[in-house]
Amino acid sequence: LFITFEGIDGSGKSTQARLLAEALRGLGRDVVLTREPGGSPGAEEIRALVLEGDPDRWSAETEILLFTAARRDHLERTIAPALDRGQVVICDRFADSTRMYQGLSRGDLRGLVDQLHDLMIARDPDLTVLIDMDPDTGLGRALSRNGHEERFEEFGPDLQRKMRAGFLALAREFPARFRVVDGNRAIELVAAEVREIVLDALT
Ligand code: C5P
Repeated sequence: LFITFEGIDGSGKSTQARLLAEALRGLGRDVVLTREPGGSPGAEEIRALVLEGDPDRWSAETEILLFTAARRDHLERTIAPALDRGQVVICDRFADSTRMYQGLSRGDLRGLVDQLHDLMIARDPDLTVLIDMDPDTGLGRALSRNGHEERFEEFGPDLQRKMRAGFLALAREFPARFRVVDGNRAIELVAAEVREIVLDALT
C-alpha cells in the first residue's frame, strides 16, 4: 500500500506520517517512512539544490524538471522496491505537492507538471491523506519551527491560502484516493482518524 500525506506548511503532516508509521509498526506491519523532496540519496541531493540557496536560481520550468527528476529517483530507488517487497510505503509529500507548489505558485504550470508526471512517474498513491489546516495557524507553526527550510521569500499568508484552497480542489479532483482530515485538532485526535482511514484501506 502506497500512502501519501499532503497539506500546507505547518499542517502537521510530517508528525502524522510518523505517528501512522509507528502505529502500523506496532501492529506488525513492515513500513517504509519517506519524504519528498528527497527520500533517496540522489533525490536528497536535488532537495538541497531546490530548497537551499537563491530562490531565483532556477526558472519555474527547470524547478519542475528537478522535482520530477528527484521523484523519479525516489520512486526507482526507494518507493517501487519497497512496494515490490510488500512493505507499506508512507510518503510525506508526493506529486500532489508539485501540482500545487510548482504548478500554481509561479504562474499556471499545472499542465506541464501533469505531462511530466505521466511521462516519467506514472504512479499514483493508493491513498492520499490531506491534513487540512487553517492557513494562518499553519503559517504561524511553520515560522516558529527551528531550522525549517521554507523559502521565506515566497512564503506568506497569500501563498498559504492559495495552497490550502488548491489542495482541497485537488481532493475533489481525485476523490477515489483522497481523504481530507481536519488538522485543526489535537494531534492525537487527528492521528486516530488517520489510523482509522488507513486500517480501513488495509483490510
Ligand atoms: O514538507 P516540507 O516542510 O519538508 O517542505 C519543505 C519546503 O519545500 C516547504 O517550504 C514546502 O513549501 C516546499 N516545497 C515546495 N515544493 C514541493 C515540496 C515542498 O516548494 N513540491
